Amino acid sequence: MRSAELRASIEEMVDRLADELEALSHRIHAHPELCFEEEKAHAWLTEFLEAKGCDVARGVGGLATAFTSTIPGTAPGPTIAILAEYDALPRIGHACGHNVIATAGVGAGTALRLAFPRLPFRGQVRVIGTPAEEGGAGKVRLMKAGVFEGVEAAMMIHPRDGTRIWRPTLGIIKVKAEFSGKAVHASSWPWRGVNALNAVIQLFVGLDAMRQQIRPEARVHGIITHGGDQPNIIPEYTAAEFYLRSDRMEYLQELLCRFEACARGAATATGCEVTVTPDSIVHEPLKPNFAMADLFRVNLERAGLAEDPEDEEAGYGSTDCGNVSQVIPTIHPYVRTAPDGVPLHSREFAEWARSPIARTGLLAAAKALAMTALDLLASPETLAEVREEFASRTSPRPRPSESR
Ligand SMILES: [Zn+2]
Ligand SMILES: [Zn+2]
Repeated sequence: MRSAELRASIEEMVDRLADELEALSHRIHAHPELCFEEEKAHAWLTEFLEAKGCDVARGVGGLATAFTSTIPGTAPGPTIAILAEYDALPRIGHACGHNVIATAGVGAGTALRLAFPRLPFRGQVRVIGTPAEEGGAGKVRLMKAGVFEGVEAAMMIHPRDGTRIWRPTLGIIKVKAEFSGKAVHASSWPWRGVNALNAVIQLFVGLDAMRQQIRPEARVHGIITHGGDQPNIIPEYTAAEFYLRSDRMEYLQELLCRFEACARGAATATGCEVTVTPDSIVHEPLKPNFAMADLFRVNLERAGLAEDPEDEEAGYGSTDCGNVSQVIPTIHPYVRTAPDGVPLHSREFAEWARSPIARTGLLAAAKALAMTALDLLASPETLAEVREEFASRTSPRPRPSESR
């Protein structure tokens, strides 16, 4: 089968599924679920796959809300993974647009399944439902549990206020600081207390001073997760959580050392004890794969979505897909679901994640994901090129404007 015929079959199938995919996306959007709690989305996505004739394995890798669905080819061969995220954010719902990621990934899988009784090549496409991107590092857990075993290349899309095939992401060390003081009556005996709230405030002040002397692309940001219990008690326990981010793993370690010094300083200044606990999972930056990204760019353009120029004003986020990209050739292109200038993790972005622009992004992305997976199965030479680039690339830090 020629490439043009394959493309026509996929496009026709995605167009036929379009209204159902959009309805599924809106349904997930209307019921936002936090990381590890994506029970409804998990049920709806797997039911959708099954209804279209796909095999589904639920609760894979020890995560109740993860799933896999495999679309087989003519004979055993390479596995290409298409990733689907579906978790939301506290209070602001689908402000990262993961409802679009989920339905684009599942849309690509079902279109492939419906277009071909068997994929016309050796190998298989595996849709992997990856829970808990927002704070849970679901993909890292699934990799450890072997769910990505045998995957030769992985891909997903992410919504954004513009279409951009390659953008760097930052690594993250998550760290918790806890201060212990001494509780007393806040009015009658304040001089006998040790105030753990003062310590956590002091830590934020220290970090604000530190921030002036960190690398421009690095980020340090946090929230107080426990600030005391009642105003008439001097707080004896406070806690705060922070993300330390950089595009360089070695610099993350330096930031952690400086964070610990700030925390110790805050404890000393206030007479408290401090415990600093870094999370055991470190998020890694995305490692680019331009061989695969170029395929996706062409397929997305043919599906009607051209790349937008890089927005030099915009900073970078992070993703647990970064860890996948360090182990397996991976792409994480951004697809427009909102007008220019609408930031991720905002209430406006959540609104746009169910707009006609999001529908256009969803459908073009489903087509491009399916077609790129087929391109890789169709051409062992292209897959070899993708693998070679992965092996030769050690630096995870090309700038946004870099391309081949
Ligand atoms: Zn997000
Ligand atoms: Zn996201």
